[in-house]
Amino acid sequence: MADIIQLLPDHVANQIAAGEVVQRPASVVKELLENAIDAGSDSIKLIIKDAGKTLVQVIDNGKGMSTTDARLSFERHATSKIRSAEDLFQLHTKGFRGEALASIAAIAHVELKTKQPNDDVGNSIIIEGSKVTDQDVVVTPQGTSVSVKNLFFNIPARRNFLKSDNVELRHIIDEFHRVALAHPTISFAMYNNGSEAFNLPISNYRQRIVNIFGTKTNEKLVPVEEETEVLKISGFVGKPEFAKKTRGEQYFFVNDRFIKSAYLNHAIASAYDGLLKSGTHASYFLNLTVDPQTIDINIHPTKTEIKFDDEHTLYAILRSAVKHSLGQFNIAPVLDFDRDATLDTPYEFKKETVKTSAPSIEVDRSFNPFQEDEPVKQSTSVSYKKEPAESWESLYVGLESKGTKTQQDFSEVHFESEEATVSMFDKDVEQTHTTYQLHNKYIVSTIKSGMLVIDQHRAHQRILYEDYLRHLTVKGALSQQLLFPLDLHFSNQEITVINQLKEDLEHTGFVFSNVEEESVEIIGVPVGVPESEVSIILEQLISDVENEVPDSNFSATDLLAKSMAKSLAIKTGQSLQKDEQEHLVNKLFACKEPNVSPANRTTFVTMSVDELDKKFI
Ligand code: ADP
Ligand code: MG
Repeated sequence: MADIIQLLPDHVANQIAAGEVVQRPASVVKELLENAIDAGSDSIKLIIKDAGKTLVQVIDNGKGMSTTDARLSFERHATSKIRSAEDLFQLHTKGFRGEALASIAAIAHVELKTKQPNDDVGNSIIIEGSKVTDQDVVVTPQGTSVSVKNLFFNIPARRNFLKSDNVELRHIIDEFHRVALAHPTISFAMYNNGSEAFNLPISNYRQRIVNIFGTKTNEKLVPVEEETEVLKISGFVGKPEFAKKTRGEQYFFVNDRFIKSAYLNHAIASAYDGLLKSGTHASYFLNLTVDPQTIDINIHPTKTEIKFDDEHTLYAILRSAVKHSLGQFNIAPVLDFDRDATLDTPYEFKKETVKTSAPSIEVDRSFNPFQEDEPVKQSTSVSYKKEPAESWESLYVGLESKGTKTQQDFSEVHFESEEATVSMFDKDVEQTHTTYQLHNKYIVSTIKSGMLVIDQHRAHQRILYEDYLRHLTVKGALSQQLLFPLDLHFSNQEITVINQLKEDLEHTGFVFSNVEEESVEIIGVPVGVPESEVSIILEQLISDVENEVPDSNFSATDLLAKSMAKSLAIKTGQSLQKDEQEHLVNKLFACKEPNVSPANRTTFVTMSVDELDKKFI
């Protein structure tokens, strides 16, 4: 009988290997980002189109490749990272299999441009389905750019298997987060369909976490540091009260590589024993550094799993380190010198130098509790000082002028206030400035330096958003009881979403008497929410959750607050009374981040007299 065994042609072998390495666009993102890091880059850009189905591009400023290396990099088992099997046990790079580029080039259109630092020109290579279609000399910046277009163009079954853009984008963002978290000393930017999704400057670890997950994360983090002979641990765990229903923010890095380990996850969970509400999961961002000889990362093609020589010891050390940190945090507030104070300081104040005079306690003699139309909550930290006639304008722009009066104002203002609810207008004192509504859209007012223009819809969104967030976190919202229960109908899927958010909704003041398969019965709504708006709010919320545009700040609470603020904010086109205008201005400047709406849009602009003068030249 004739021989029947034959060697598979390279492109077939590559396609098969590609199945292991590239499951979806996010796998390409991971491989390209890792190559960029291995190349010693300190600035990396990721560009995505159509959730990576049309384009994944990574641009780095690393060491680049020579002409020969550029061509070789697409060969299978072509790697510069190991020379012998022994090297595997000393691995300090991410890649080593030499498979990624070959695999990707087998199933996509790939364009590589690369230049080494000392060369005048670089090289470009175009490969489609493992075939080199073009190779040329090009002018290109130092480093490497790899564009991967039309992924799975020659494997329609795989292409059809991809999930919706939302889901694929979520996976890409997850990969991006993992890589960016492991490397705070590299700056990363991500662009999605032409707009910037993340811009992460080089920073310390805490700040990298905050830049990714939002300013609010800062106060939730407890540092963990431990160094033993076998293991160094550093990073942060989340305070128990901020534990989440989902396992979203759980990150282990071993020697700067993201890994999943149910076993080590268990070690952390057990450190939280008795501290978490059932069904919730603590966040963690932990870096373990171990001798590369004591681990085997070669057991899984996508390399997110790892084998440790001595798992039991690791488990015990990790558990006790986390327990220790949580314990310390429970008895004494953590003094964290790593903390970046600008993250907490509202708007313009962050530019001021700190006054060294002793803190003074302000007694507001003119304070009249009956003057406020809202209850003023006392918080443990001091609220903004109630300003007499000067009002908010001195708080805001006055800081720029260096008059003694404003300096003094500044020293009397205390930060870290959750409850900046004290009005900065004093109604007894005659107002010296006026507000004016323009096109039922903007509120215009004079300020010391010139003119202030506020977008009423965005400003009100900001105000409501912070209010709701506060209510959601302190769980102190008031509810108004409905005369007749409200019966609303939803699809099964929508009910699932409502169930997920039910508890949070209750914190804003909703009271559900019944949630069934296709209907909900509501007997209480947040104070100030008109009954007629309830179904619109819930529908909006459900659609926001379903179309969740993943952004850096995503959390259910946050989304709820944003969504409600969006539904209930004063609309463009609504005419406002003078006192309503003033109230809006006051409330806006009592916000923590008055200058942007919850969707990060500008809420107000100012124009100084100088700028106006220039226009009249
Ligand atoms: P591996 O990373 O496992 O070595 P890859 O297929 O990902 O395999 O890459 C092959 C080789 O191409 C790498 O070993 C490296 O020498 C080179 N290379 C890939 N990407 C880059 C890059 N962005 N900058 C410099 N060299 C790169
Ligand atoms: Mg690689």
